[in-house]
Amino acid sequence: MHDKYVYTGKPTNLKQTLTHPVVIGGGPVGLVLALSLQQSGVPVTVLEAQQPGAMYGDGRALALSYGTRQVLEQLGVWHQLESTVTAIETIHVSQQKGFGRALLKAGEHQLPALGYVVSYGALMQALDARITETKSGIEVCYQVPVQQLQVDAIAAEVTFQTATAASSEILVTPLAVIADGGRSLEAIPGLIRETKHYGHDALVGLVQSELPHRNMAYERFTPYGPMALLPNGEQFSLVWTGEQAYIDQIAALDDDAFLQALHQAFGDRVGKFLQIGKRGRFPLKLSKLEQTFPAHCVVIGNAAQTMHPVAGQGFNVGIRDAMALAKNIASTTAAEWGAAHRLTEYHQSRARDTSRGLLFTDFLVNVFSNDLIGVGLLRGAGLGALSLLPVARRFLVNKMSYGS
Ligand SMILES: Cc1cc2nc3c(=O)[nH]c(=O)nc-3n(C[C@H](O)[C@H](O)[C@H](O)COP(=O)(O)OP(=O)(O)OC[C@H]3O[C@@H](n4cnc5c(N)ncnc54)[C@H](O)[C@@H]3O)c2cc1C
Repeated sequence: MHDKYVYTGKPTNLKQTLTHPVVIGGGPVGLVLALSLQQSGVPVTVLEAQQPGAMYGDGRALALSYGTRQVLEQLGVWHQLESTVTAIETIHVSQQKGFGRALLKAGEHQLPALGYVVSYGALMQALDARITETKSGIEVCYQVPVQQLQVDAIAAEVTFQTATAASSEILVTPLAVIADGGRSLEAIPGLIRETKHYGHDALVGLVQSELPHRNMAYERFTPYGPMALLPNGEQFSLVWTGEQAYIDQIAALDDDAFLQALHQAFGDRVGKFLQIGKRGRFPLKLSKLEQTFPAHCVVIGNAAQTMHPVAGQGFNVGIRDAMALAKNIASTTAAEWGAAHRLTEYHQSRARDTSRGLLFTDFLVNVFSNDLIGVGLLRGAGLGALSLLPVARRFLVNKMSYGS
């Protein structure tokens, strides 16, 4: 098997039968699954729509939990990444126009850090480097967008376009894993998605502040929506969320006016904001799959659940999907890969974590971004409790560090 190659395409429709799993989507979740399977001796083929290295320049900041660090260590990826991550040692939670604030400190919970900030591009580079090191067991095919997935009682058929786009080909596999971030699911019978659009967008970008971050992350709840400043290198990664019309207004500001508006919304904790890099924007939704799943097909990562970024949960839940599925596959005989009862076991093992992540983030958005009389007081009381009660702090730290 090749390590990694660009599928060059063949002149006609070809059908090839594989006896191992095929992963659709070589994003971080798909690649973590591939590495974990490889470590357990299970061969895997990954089909990725884009060309190699296409995402290396993607500066979006991902907050990795301490549990995700442990996974990346176990897979031999962390050492490639370590020099580019920024540790979060303290989280400062506050609300605009209200009382109450809380500090969560890694040291109080015997953790070296509460989480780590890394750019999507750096993570992809580290995962690719690790796959190249592994030499065998993982086949990554690039520039092969999957067009169709059909499942029957025996197997899954994955139809993808070749790199030249001259033809399409089919891989037959006992188990097709959808890790495409949620882009090619719609037409698959048996998979039904439930989506709640928040009508909110996230505006993201790197900001330079007057004072250093000292490895502190800030989560601030405003009447418009939550905003976060995550320490990233010498700067902060800003995630500013709010209703689309509100984000339209701040997105339209020139840099100076934007920095002033940010200072006004965030307060003076890190001094003035001096510079903002390229601003990005993405819509926010809560999305999950209904509990009806066909055999020979499973969905993980953002494709399975999409959450509001308020507490940095979504990506980490996706990594836990990948690890749980790898464990399930590795503990199953090859003859049973894709069998409905084994996939049901997988879904059961993930149901609690997924629904807690969805509920937790949805709760934070609803309670902390609500300007109704009384809710502000509740928020203040909640932050007060968080500040005073070790048990409340431990709950939140566990949730953010391990998802438990
Ligand atoms: C625009 C945007 C900005 C974001 N910003 C943040 C942020 O600031 N902080 C944060 O924590 N989270 C952010 N998120 C969420 C975060 O990126 C996801 O949680 C994370 O990327 C999920 O990883 P994944 O591997 O499941 O999916 P993805 O990262 O989406 O990877 C999916 C992969 O599948 C490939 N693919 C798609 N369709 C096909 C197909 N048909 N055939 C083959 N391959 C296919 C894609 O090319 C991609 O490589 C953002 C998401 C988006 C969309």
